[in-house]
Amino acid sequence: MSTATGNRALQLEEKLIFEQNSPGMTAVDLPNPAELTNVESRLGDAARKDPIGLPGLSEPQVVRHYLRLSQKNFAIDGGLYPLGSCTMKHNPRLNEKMARLPGLADIHPLQPKATVQGAYELIDMTAHWLKILTGMPAIAMSPAAGAHGELCGLMTIRAALEARGDARVRVLVPESAHGTNPASAHMCGYKVEAIPATEQGRVDLAALKDKLGDDVAAIMVTNPNTCGLFENEIIEMTQAVHECGGLVYCDGANFNAIVGRVRPGDLGIDAMHLNLHKTFSTPHGGGGPGAGPVVLSEALAAYAPLPYVVHGKDGFELVEQAEDAGDNKPYGRMKGFHGQFGVMVRALAYMLSMGSDGLRQASSDAVLNANYLMAKLSDILTASYDGPCMHEVLFDDRFLKDTDVTTLDFAKAMIDEGFHPMTMYFPLVVHGALLMEPTETEGKATLDEFVGVIRALAKKAQTGKADDFKAAPIYTPRRRLDETMAARNPVLTWSPDQAAAAE
Ligand SMILES: *Cc1c(COP(=O)(O)O)cnc(C)c1O
Repeated sequence: MSTATGNRALQLEEKLIFEQNSPGMTAVDLPNPAELTNVESRLGDAARKDPIGLPGLSEPQVVRHYLRLSQKNFAIDGGLYPLGSCTMKHNPRLNEKMARLPGLADIHPLQPKATVQGAYELIDMTAHWLKILTGMPAIAMSPAAGAHGELCGLMTIRAALEARGDARVRVLVPESAHGTNPASAHMCGYKVEAIPATEQGRVDLAALKDKLGDDVAAIMVTNPNTCGLFENEIIEMTQAVHECGGLVYCDGANFNAIVGRVRPGDLGIDAMHLNLHKTFSTPHGGGGPGAGPVVLSEALAAYAPLPYVVHGKDGFELVEQAEDAGDNKPYGRMKGFHGQFGVMVRALAYMLSMGSDGLRQASSDAVLNANYLMAKLSDILTASYDGPCMHEVLFDDRFLKDTDVTTLDFAKAMIDEGFHPMTMYFPLVVHGALLMEPTETEGKATLDEFVGVIRALAKKAQTGKADDFKAAPIYTPRRRLDETMAARNPVLTWSPDQAAAAE
């Protein structure tokens, strides 16, 4: 049903900000520059001659525009966000309060070192606890995201191998890996080779051993992996790689499943990034900011990138130049300054407020919740691998066979029921993947409601209601968008001519 306005109850249809333009309208009252006769322009030819092209708007118009847009967004603060591989958990408000303290939020990386001793101490303390939780001796704090951490880890591995005169060319990556893994290895100049998965959804150890050789720089393994399974032959894997002189990179994006239970350092891992915005509770989505510190083994510690904090004789110091690095041989730096400091503040607030018992409880509850979904849904959906799972549960589209409903249609129907869809079509090792990660912060009532919806939709699909699924979503401000077209031909600018042509 359509309304005269296009609005749906109190959800208002929102025009582009340029379409709301009232020329000359402004939210500020500045003196007219023409009246400032004693000011001589120093811009010369660079002075703008045409209007700047920004829309004229009042302050209430601007506020309403962005508020309405934000209301069209789904967020973890609004409801269950079971996006597998993303660890969309609740972010305690305490962390936000800490990150906004003026002494932490308003400092500048170029301030004199004596005035930011507390900030160095905070980086050092965060580094300390991350090393304790992972059982690793060293850490690079500056990478800005998981993928950036992967690149950092591989560059560290490359530096260590080159230092021993053993530049190698291949990096092995399991089939189920996140796309950033092969991309990072490729960016670092390596030739990427895929390792197949077993019927049980884990790395095929025999196939891995076959591919090993003295030209393999590293393997990149995700543990728990993207099928939500613990790689239970990880120690055999790391031993085999080390015997060949290679190093082991672990994608630690799924660390939320094992915090306080498994220390990657005990498994033979040489480098692993931590997504502070996943495991250590920083709000994420929409592109950041995140942080991807990389923990390093003894073999790699000396090659960690600049800058890093050390305990000097007059307090904390920041090593920023290779010539100040003593016996270390940093390969360079990943970032202009010290990394995403605000995200480190949140991670430290989270770790200290949870305590070691709380962190262990969180990972246990995350695993329990995923297994609860598996137990409640396995008779009606098709679980890809036998349980139990870790922090996320993987289903494939066999339960939709002969229904004419696809994983995508199913996900769109979930939106009409008020649930953000799970991750779809990833990992690629199963057909039509549905990857659900409930996280530890969801209670039983929410999970039961979710289970009820999924079961009802699955039954509906299996009883021949495909047309309903093809039409979904019907209650959203926009329905099915042509996402391929949007990705291939994005329209990122607005002009009055375009708008006129579209009408
Ligand atoms: C999220 C994720 C990454 C990438 O991390 P970003 O912080 O998004 O760059 C890599 N691997 C896995 C398994 C992930 O889930």
